[in-house]
Amino acid sequence: TVQPLHAPRPLGLSSARRDAAHFINGAFTQGTSGKYYDNICPVDGSRIGSVPEGGKAEIDAAVKAARAALDGPWGQMSLNERSVLLGKVAAEINRRFDEFLAAECLDTGKPASLASHIDIPRGAANFTMFTDVAKTVSTECFTTPTPDGAGAMNYGLRRPRGVIAVISPWNLPLLLMTWKVGPALALGNTVVVKPSEQTPLTATLLGEVMNSVGIPAGVYNVVHGFGGNSAGEFLTQHPGVNGITFTGSTRSGEALMREAARGVRPVSLELGGKNPALVFADADMDKAIEGVMRSAFANCGQVCLGTERIYVERPIFNEFVARLKQGAEGLRFGRPEDPGTNLGPLVSELHRKKVLSYYAKAVEEGATIITGGGVPDMPAELAAGAWVQPTIWTGLPDDAAVVNEEIFGPCCHIRPFDTEAEAIRLANSTPYGLAASVWTESLSRAHRVASKMEVGICWVNSWFLRDLRTAFGGAKASGIGREGGVHSLEFYTEITNVCVKL
Ligand code: NAD
Repeated sequence: TVQPLHAPRPLGLSSARRDAAHFINGAFTQGTSGKYYDNICPVDGSRIGSVPEGGKAEIDAAVKAARAALDGPWGQMSLNERSVLLGKVAAEINRRFDEFLAAECLDTGKPASLASHIDIPRGAANFTMFTDVAKTVSTECFTTPTPDGAGAMNYGLRRPRGVIAVISPWNLPLLLMTWKVGPALALGNTVVVKPSEQTPLTATLLGEVMNSVGIPAGVYNVVHGFGGNSAGEFLTQHPGVNGITFTGSTRSGEALMREAARGVRPVSLELGGKNPALVFADADMDKAIEGVMRSAFANCGQVCLGTERIYVERPIFNEFVARLKQGAEGLRFGRPEDPGTNLGPLVSELHRKKVLSYYAKAVEEGATIITGGGVPDMPAELAAGAWVQPTIWTGLPDDAAVVNEEIFGPCCHIRPFDTEAEAIRLANSTPYGLAASVWTESLSRAHRVASKMEVGICWVNSWFLRDLRTAFGGAKASGIGREGGVHSLEFYTEITNVCVKL
């Protein structure tokens, strides 16, 4: 039922195929570990290039370079000087837009139509947004009475936290990495980035940008490798790291937090989700279908904020299921560069195995398959890609694994509800608390229900509408801390209170 898009053109991203390299102290290097792995394109299973796996030596060199830059030129710069340089980083990403776009599409397989609207522009904007915030936010000041009557004055000074470890995932590689690198650098820190092992290219490319606009060596460092017992873990263990900011799965977040306990380093954790959409009978059906289509299937369902649980008020349940089915079956698989493509592959064969195991589990748990449930029939040249069908289920019990565990694929379960209280209870019924969306035309219901959602972000009649000044993060098992706007200042700076006896 899903129509594969038989692309007439070859992959066309060949100029972006390259080997990855670490970027340490302003120089590209393959490191000394001697270990490499292949970077595979999930569109057709082809090899993009090799990636060096960083070990303790590369991590140590990167952390030392970051420390030296902090103690050297970067640490001496004023906010205005940093702001000018970071503005140039954003401009240079935009100037080299097509290169970043091709690299991101090769690594992830996502449609260029999506990455050109979200990943790359947001990646650039992350470098301008936070210097604007830093320039306008003040700290507190208190005058304090003293027994001698002269009083004292207290004021807060914000200092950079130091060397920040940035560990990022593969689903929005440039966007999520710069979401942390942007504020870290704006506020005067230096960074060592460990991008996802599956998407090394845009982080590498950013090294070229940093050099070309004159960011001092050591301010931005990248070490490639895996998580546990590899570059990721070695980075979190390094005593020279002053704070760890992480986006990824809840399980990895737990491991990382244990490492951060050594030396009492602060963490900012943006973790997994199992996000609900609540669709009330008074919703605008066209808007709800359009929004839920995106929230369930955009980026092939690989968005932390995406919707995998949909609760629909009973009078409109059948119509909603039928229309979402129609929408899912109208999605078009294809190569990233084809403008008609709106559904790419999953990021890897490994991830496809995980998603397909949930497709099988749904059947075991008694689901009715409304659409999908398997692997699409793709043309020969794409057959080795990590494709899966967009999938909708109904009829699962509330305690089913498929309804409670994050799958991170283009799939969702739809269940009817009868009362507002029931919908709220169901929405809050998992250990996760990242995002929710509420679809209703009733103003009072919208505010009432939104206030009951145990999540970091609740959309009403929309999804993925982001203002970078707002707080972003997860409740419950979906994370610790908030970033965005002034909230990023909390993690990326330390306040020293200066108390002056008058
Ligand atoms: P992951 O946890 O497997 O990996 C994320 C990063 O952490 C990778 O760079 C990985 O190498 C590294 N890592 C893994 N274990 C580590 C360890 N023990 N020590 C140090 N580093 C380690 O996640 P993923 O599969 O890359 O990404 C998907 C997950 O990310 C999903 O759970 C998704 O919900 C979550 N996510 C959350 C947000 C958010 O903002 N809350 C955004 C995007 C993705």
